[in-house]
Formats: sequence, C-alpha cells, structure tokens
Amino acid sequence: MDDCIFCKIAFGEVRVPRIYENENFFSIKDAHPKVEGHSLVISKKHFKNVLDMPSSLGTELIDCVKNTYAKLGKELKCEGFNVVSNNFKAGGQEVNHVHFHILPRKEDDGFRIFVNK
Ligand code: 5GP
Ligand code: ZN
Repeated sequence: MDDCIFCKIAFGEVRVPRIYENENFFSIKDAHPKVEGHSLVISKKHFKNVLDMPSSLGTELIDCVKNTYAKLGKELKCEGFNVVSNNFKAGGQEVNHVHFHILPRKEDDGFRIFVNK
C-alpha cells in the first residue's frame, strides 16, 4: 500500500525506533500520545482492520503486546495497561492498517477511555 504510513514504517521507508518486534508485528511509540508511553502494536503486513487479519496471527499479536508492555512497564514503572483497537470509521479508526493501542496506566492517573465506568 503506497500511501499507507504504517506500511512505510513497517518497510523502514520511514524510520521509527521499534520497542519490540517478532515475525509479523512490531511496536512503536504513538506520535500523539494520549498517556505517557502510549504505543502501537502494528502488523507488518497491510491488513485493513481486525476483521481483515488472519486469526492465525493471534499468538504473535499477544506476544508483541506482552513484550511491548514488559519494556514500557520497566521504563515507566506503570502499574497496568489498556489495549484498544479502533475498527472502521465508526469505530474511530484513522489509519486503515491494523494496529492496537497500548496505553500504560498508573493508579489514579485520571485517564479515562469510553469503556471505563
Ligand atoms: P486510530 O487509527 O487507531 O484512530 O489512530 C491511529 C494512531 O496512529 C493515532 O493515535 C496517531 O497518533 C498514530 N499515528 C498516526 N500516524 C503516525 C506516525 O506516522 N507515527 C506514529 N508513531 N504514530 C502515528
Ligand atoms: Zn499499510
């Protein structure tokens, strides 16, 4: 996908430091962090959204989530995290290349996402 920013980052055409990577996923810091350490787990292949991504990649996806949080957790001394995936325009998706937000959390940090009570 020529005009896809996450494909450009995946192929190294746009150089961004990687937090962690495995065969099918990598993680980077979000350019516009909502909380300290806000990061993205991104598929190396261009799938538009979660529905477009093969279910067989689930194990590697979770591996990338866990290892990304392990590195962020150490760096930031955070105490928890949220994983968020926006899908389709109505779901708030702006970059149409499947990705998962990792939002590090601390007790009483005041940050709220809409699924919070
Ligand atoms: P979503 O599609 O899930 O709504 O949001 C896309 C996310 O990607 C946003 O949080 C935005 O800040 C991030 N983003 C968009 N372009 C870039 C980029 O070029 N580099 C990085 N590191 N993050 C980006
Ligand atoms: Zn792409």
